[in-house]
Amino acid sequence: MSVETRARPVAHGDTMLPYRVVGRSAQTPDTVTLRLQPVHDAAQRFRAGQFMMLYSFGVGEIAISISGNPADDNGTLEHTIRAVGAVSAALHRTGIGGLIGVRGPYGTGWDLASAIGGDLVIVGGGVGLAPLRSAVLTALAARSDYRRIVLISGARTPGDMLFRDDQQVWSAAGSIELEQTVDRPAPDWRGRVGFVTEPLAHLTLEPGKTTALLCGPEPMMRFCAQSLLRRGIPATDIQLALERNMQCGVARCGHCQLGPLLLCRDGPVVDYAVAEPLLAVREL
Ligand SMILES: Cc1cc2nc3c(=O)[nH]c(=O)nc-3n(C[C@H](O)[C@H](O)[C@H](O)COP(=O)(O)OP(=O)(O)OC[C@H]3O[C@@H](n4cnc5c(N)ncnc54)[C@H](O)[C@@H]3O)c2cc1C
Repeated sequence: MSVETRARPVAHGDTMLPYRVVGRSAQTPDTVTLRLQPVHDAAQRFRAGQFMMLYSFGVGEIAISISGNPADDNGTLEHTIRAVGAVSAALHRTGIGGLIGVRGPYGTGWDLASAIGGDLVIVGGGVGLAPLRSAVLTALAARSDYRRIVLISGARTPGDMLFRDDQQVWSAAGSIELEQTVDRPAPDWRGRVGFVTEPLAHLTLEPGKTTALLCGPEPMMRFCAQSLLRRGIPATDIQLALERNMQCGVARCGHCQLGPLLLCRDGPVVDYAVAEPLLAVREL
C-alpha cells in the first residue's frame, strides 16, 4: 500500500485540551496505563495505531500512542507510558485527578481493513505493545472478520511484559493464539525464552492471506519483516510503526522526517515496502 492510499486520521484536533486522569493501572515498575477523561465536550474519535501529543503541564509534551479501544464511546483515552526521561516520567507519576493536556489524534494508524478475510499476525516488543493493544481490541470487536489472530509478545523479563492480564484473557477465550517470549526468564515463567523472531519463524503463514503488524525496537521490526518476506509475505502486507522525534504532530516542524515522509502525518504506521529503503536514514 502506498503512503497516498493509507487511510487518513478520522479526526484532527490541533488544539490542546485538558483531560483528567481517572484511572491508573501499573503495567510494570516503570510503565503505567493512564485512563484520561475529557473535561470538555469535544471527545476525540481515533483509529487504532494513532497517537496523541500529551503535555505534562510545566514539563513538556511528547507523542504517546493510544493503547485503548477505539470503540469506547465514552470519550476516554488510554495511554501506556514508560518513564524514561523528564516528560514521560512526569506523565507517569500523574495521579488520579491530575490534568494532562492532549492534542490529536495524529497519524495514520493500522490498516486492519485490508486484513479482513485473512490472518492477522501481530508482533510487539516492550512498550511497542501499546499501539498493538488498540489493534487487538479493534480486531476482537469484529472477530469474525478475521481467520486467525496471532499475537507474539516479547519483553526483556516476565516483569517487563505489558498487558499480561489482557493477553491471558484474550488467549483463554480462544480469541487469539498467544506466544509470549522473554529474553531472561523468571523461575515461574512458562512461556518461551528468546526473541520474537523464533515463534514467528515457526508459524504457518499463507502469503496473500496474512497481514502482519509490527511494533517494537527497530532492529526487532526489521528482523521480523525480513523473516516474513522470506516466507513469501509481500512487503505491502507488513505494517510497522516507526518512532521518530515528533514535536508538532502536524507535519510542520520537520523533526520526524524520514526520507520523503513526515512520520507524524505519513506514519507512524507505514508498510515495509515504503519503510525498508528508508530505515538506514538517520533522524534529524
Ligand atoms: C508515534 C510515537 C508514539 C509513541 N508512543 C509511546 C507510547 O505509547 N509509550 C511510551 O512510553 N513512549 C512512546 N513514545 C516515545 C515518547 O514519545 C518519548 O520519546 C519517550 O517517552 C521519551 O521522552 P522523554 O521526554 O521522557 O525522554 P527524553 O528526555 O527524550 O529522553 C531521556 C532519555 O531516555 C532515552 N529514551 C528516549 N526514549 C526512550 C525509549 N523509548 N526507551 C528507552 N529509552 C529512551 C533517551 O535516549 C534519553 O537518554 C512514542 C513516540 C512516538 C514518536
